[in-house]
Amino acid sequence: MHEWALAESVIKTSAEHAAREKLRCVSEVGVALGELQSIDREIFAFALAELVKSSFKDLAACKFSLLDDPAAFKCRACSAEFTLKALKRTGEEAENIHFIPEMAHTFLKCPECASPDFDITAGRGVTIKHIRGEQ
Ligand SMILES: [Zn+2]
Repeated sequence: MHEWALAESVIKTSAEHAAREKLRCVSEVGVALGELQSIDREIFAFALAELVKSSFKDLAACKFSLLDDPAAFKCRACSAEFTLKALKRTGEEAENIHFIPEMAHTFLKCPECASPDFDITAGRGVTIKHIRGEQ
């Protein structure tokens, strides 16, 4: 269950940030979930709540906002930027990409020049976008 490991690192990072910034309480943490990361939001939200309850009581008043981080790509051949949604694809391909982001290169091509050589510029992993609190 990688949701639990991810939730724990989000909480640890938030707690460390709060300590560094001398925040009395953290009110909100915005967490962007990558489209390619394949995270079960319900499990992730549950894991956050449970971990705070059991081991990070300082963050009890904190609200975790789960945000979308849509996948984006940039072609290395022609510099075109494109998104997953913009590409025509079958359901099966989309499934594979969600399970293994590295597979994107096998299934996707640049819509401009058809090159399979592109960078994934967004939509991987879990990112803390903001941490709000009171000093
Ligand atoms: Zn291209």
